[in-house]
Amino acid sequence: VFSNVESAPPIEVFQMSKLYNESTDPNKVNLGVGAYRTDEGKPWVLPVVSTAELQMANDRTLNHEYLPVAGLPDFRSAALGLLFGSDHKVITENRVEGFQALGGTGALRLAAEFSKKVLQFDTVYVSSPTWGNHKGVFKAAGFSNIKEYRYWDAESRGLNLPGMLEDLMAAPPKSMVILHAVAHNPTGVDATKEQWGEIARVCKEKQLFVLLDCAYQGFASGNLDEDAWACRFFANQDVDLFVAQSFSKNFGLYNERIGNLAVVTKDPKKLPEIRSQMEIMIRIMWSNPPNHGARIVATVLNNKAYYDDWKGQIMTMASRIQKMREELADNLKKLGTPGNWDHIVKQIGMFSFTGLTPKQVEYMISKHVYMLGSGRISIAGLTPKNVQYVAKCMDEAVRA
Ligand code: PLP
Repeated sequence: VFSNVESAPPIEVFQMSKLYNESTDPNKVNLGVGAYRTDEGKPWVLPVVSTAELQMANDRTLNHEYLPVAGLPDFRSAALGLLFGSDHKVITENRVEGFQALGGTGALRLAAEFSKKVLQFDTVYVSSPTWGNHKGVFKAAGFSNIKEYRYWDAESRGLNLPGMLEDLMAAPPKSMVILHAVAHNPTGVDATKEQWGEIARVCKEKQLFVLLDCAYQGFASGNLDEDAWACRFFANQDVDLFVAQSFSKNFGLYNERIGNLAVVTKDPKKLPEIRSQMEIMIRIMWSNPPNHGARIVATVLNNKAYYDDWKGQIMTMASRIQKMREELADNLKKLGTPGNWDHIVKQIGMFSFTGLTPKQVEYMISKHVYMLGSGRISIAGLTPKNVQYVAKCMDEAVRA
C-alpha cells in the first residue's frame, strides 16, 4: 500500500528548528520559528497563564467532558469582546458569532471549508508574500484558484499599495481575499489607517469577501485595542466578514491550539443557519475542540485583574522585541554594513523581512544562524547575548 509514497518537501520552519537543535555550534541562533523568547533565549510561560492553570487545577467543578461542538461559550464570547470591543455594534446587534478552532490555522481552515462547501467560493487572493500556510490551507479545502495580490515593494521595503489595489480591483466576482489584520507575516509591513480605508473601499466596491487573519493582536503596538483597529474598521463597514483569531502568540499558548473564527454577518437572522452549517463542518473535522487553552484564555479575559496582568505581559513581549530591533539595527550601523537597515526598526510585529537574498541566507545558515530562505527573521529569537553575532554574520553575508 505504501510502496509508492514519496517524501514530501520538509516544512521549512520546522526544518530550521531541527537544524538548530542538531547544531553543536556554541553561537547557534534560531531566528526561524515565530515564537517568543526571553532575554535568555528561553520560551516564556506567561505568569498569568500559570495563575489561570493553577486556578483550573484546583477547581473541582471542572471535568473532561466533551465541549460543545462550537467550543467553550465563555471563551467564544470573550474572544469576540477582545477582538471587537464588547460594545461594538456587531456584538450589540447580535451580528457576530465565534467558533473555537485549533489555533489560527484551524480557524482559517474552518473559514476555507465553509467558504468552499457552503458558500461555493473557489477563488482566494493572498498577499505576495504571505504566511507559508495560507495557500496550503485553502488548497486543501478545495479552492482551485489561489491568486496573489502585490503587497511587498522590495525597493522601498514597504507596502506596494497601488499594486495591491490594482490587483484587488481586477479580482473576478465571488473572490475571497485574505488580509493580515496586524503585524503582517512575513514582511512586518502594515497598511496605515488611511491605506486601510482605501483597501476597504476597493473590497466593498468589488464585493470581495474578506477574511482577516489576526494572529498577532497585541504584538504590534503592545496595545490590544490599537492592534484590533483594522478588524473593527472592517466590522464597521456593514459587510459580511470572517476574522481568524489566534491565541498562540499573544498568550504564548502555541501547543494548546487555541483560536477562534469570528463570523460577522450583515443580517443577524442568518446566524442560526450559519451556526448549524459551521457545526457540521467542525463535527467532520475535529468533532469538538480541546478544552485547556480555551479555559485559560477565558479565565484571563473574564477576570479584570488577570486581564490587566496579561496586558502588562504582552507589553513586556512587544517591548523586548522592539528593543531587539533597535539593537540589531544599531549593530549593523556600527559595523558600517552596506545598505540601509532602518526597515528593521520600522517593521512591525514579530518578524523582520531583512532583504537578505537566498544566497546571503545560505551564508547565515552556514554560520548557524537559522532563518527562512525568504530573508525573514523572527526578532523574538534575538537576545542581548546573540544580537552582536547575528549582526556580524549579516555584515559578512552582505559583503561576501
Ligand atoms: N496566521 C498567521 C499570519 C501566522 O503567522 C500564524 C502563525 O504563525 C497563524 C496564522 C497560525 O497560528 P496558529 O499557530 O495559532 O495556528
